[in-house]
Amino acid sequence: MFTSLGVISCYAHNSVRRFLVASRARMAGLLHSVTLPRVPTKHEKCYDPHDPTVKFVDKEDDLDFLCEDFKSRRAQMSCGHAVTPTSLTNWCRKLLEQGESRFVCGGSGCSAEWTFSEVWKMALLTPQETEHFRNKLAVNAALQTLITKSCPVCRSTLMRENGSDLNVLCKVCTAVKGRPFEFCWQCLREWKGPRPRKDRCENDGCCNQSLKTLKTCPDISFDSVEGVNGCPSVRACPTCGLLLEHNKRHCKSLVCPRCKVKFCFVCLKIFTKCMKTSGPYAACSSGVAPRQTSIPVWKKK
Ligand SMILES: [Zn+2]
Ligand SMILES: [Zn+2]
Ligand SMILES: [Zn+2]
Ligand SMILES: [Zn+2]
Ligand SMILES: [Zn+2]
Repeated sequence: MFTSLGVISCYAHNSVRRFLVASRARMAGLLHSVTLPRVPTKHEKCYDPHDPTVKFVDKEDDLDFLCEDFKSRRAQMSCGHAVTPTSLTNWCRKLLEQGESRFVCGGSGCSAEWTFSEVWKMALLTPQETEHFRNKLAVNAALQTLITKSCPVCRSTLMRENGSDLNVLCKVCTAVKGRPFEFCWQCLREWKGPRPRKDRCENDGCCNQSLKTLKTCPDISFDSVEGVNGCPSVRACPTCGLLLEHNKRHCKSLVCPRCKVKFCFVCLKIFTKCMKTSGPYAACSSGVAPRQTSIPVWKKK
């Protein structure tokens, strides 16, 4: 009895809504020229209409930007906006693809931030989606710490203007102190010594951890790749510079989670190039590329 009522109300709600969205659909077509990566509608997820922990509301889906008219009942998020599991999944997936490391509501005029557990519950994330979301969040958060840092004195967030100089001027502290306040992007202490410099400042122990890792990490012993000796277990992605560790399993290639380029962990060439003269489980024709002594900088097109 309850089940059939739940289903009927779901359909009734949608037929009413079809009229409401007609004009919005035309607008959305104009506004959203970029296609959202989305879950095919045939895999639409629906809430259990009897879930007592979900607050159902009789409103439009605030995240259905492409007017796909999802069938699930609408539920209210902590910020008050109404969602369906699939519209919420698609929105959060889009945020992650854009490099965000936080889930911010896309409802009009809303900038509320949802926790991962709220998104997980309300988007009915599948185990695969949960894994993808967690990985992507971790990568995005790591990337954001690469491009921003906090001033060691006033804690304001700064971006480096010149990628080849570790010396950074904090405008807030400069104004407060009435003299230029510069700190080191690498060791986060007040700057010491001449500038510009891209390797280190003159504070004791200031060093580039990534370069140190590339230099000192142990060699890898592949489980199934034959005839490779002396290959370091950590490499900087040859395209974007992200540090990556091979898990020893499978073939010698790796797909970088940041730039998506597939490269050979042994010779550091683009994988398709390496494959012209070698096999996925064999030594490379050009041998093992030496340990990297600088980190490639990604030149985005
Ligand atoms: Zn909201
Ligand atoms: Zn400061
Ligand atoms: Zn330093
Ligand atoms: Zn990369
Ligand atoms: Zn190779």
